[in-house]
Amino acid sequence: MLTSSKEMILKARAEKYAVGCFNTSDLEITKAIIAAAEAQESPVIVATSPKAIDYASLQTLSGIVKSEAKKAEVPVALHLDHGLTLSIVEECLNNGYTSIMFDGSGSELEHNEILTRQAVEMAHAKNVSCEGELGHLGKVGKTQGQLTDPNDVIEYIQKTGVDFLAISIGSQHGIGDNEELDIPLLKKINSMTKIPLVLHGASGVPETDIKKAIKNGIAKINIDTDIRHTFAKSIKKVLEKNAQENDPREILTKVMFDLQKMIEEKIKLFGSNGKV
Ligand SMILES: [Zn+2]
Repeated sequence: MLTSSKEMILKARAEKYAVGCFNTSDLEITKAIIAAAEAQESPVIVATSPKAIDYASLQTLSGIVKSEAKKAEVPVALHLDHGLTLSIVEECLNNGYTSIMFDGSGSELEHNEILTRQAVEMAHAKNVSCEGELGHLGKVGKTQGQLTDPNDVIEYIQKTGVDFLAISIGSQHGIGDNEELDIPLLKKINSMTKIPLVLHGASGVPETDIKKAIKNGIAKINIDTDIRHTFAKSIKKVLEKNAQENDPREILTKVMFDLQKMIEEKIKLFGSNGKV
């Protein structure tokens, strides 16, 4: 069923596991995410980034996720990942999104707070929860990140009213080398607030650090790069085995199988299996 992300993440926070938030851009990835969640009896968040929305169109992509979610036997939330403008937040809310992230982390703190506050008000008016980002995640090989300053946490949460807080504690978007998390920083932030914390850029983080993060308040974990890697690797594998294969249904059925297996492993690592 299509549901809000709020209850599933609050429950995860209380019971010390994390809900996986997996990025989609098409039918096949969406089906693989939901099939993995069903197989593991886990709640799941299906996320669409602005780039995915540009690729498929908002109506088409949200239509695919909503119709697959409605058939699902587990709770599925439809989430906007890294919304950078209030207009995309509004469009997503008008298209039935049940979860929003507004990312003002590229701006100065005060500007981030003002814009995020507006996004939160828009989302809450439709009974939808909203995530914000404090500190800034870098992109592997491209941009430098900035760790979350614990001194800003209380003010940011009070001024914006966010339901979940994405923090920067050492991971990056993309897969880098040795993305160890700053667990003492996470513990400090976690001691200051009860709202669920969100880990982005988790694809390159060692499993031991993921487990420590979940013990210390991380209740939503975003996975994007791993999905794209598995997708590409799987297509190459299929065509190496049979270079004559030209039926997209044959190729993509195998890709969906590989994606589902990878996502099931993530769900088990996050501990959300059997939590429906
Ligand atoms: Zn992210």
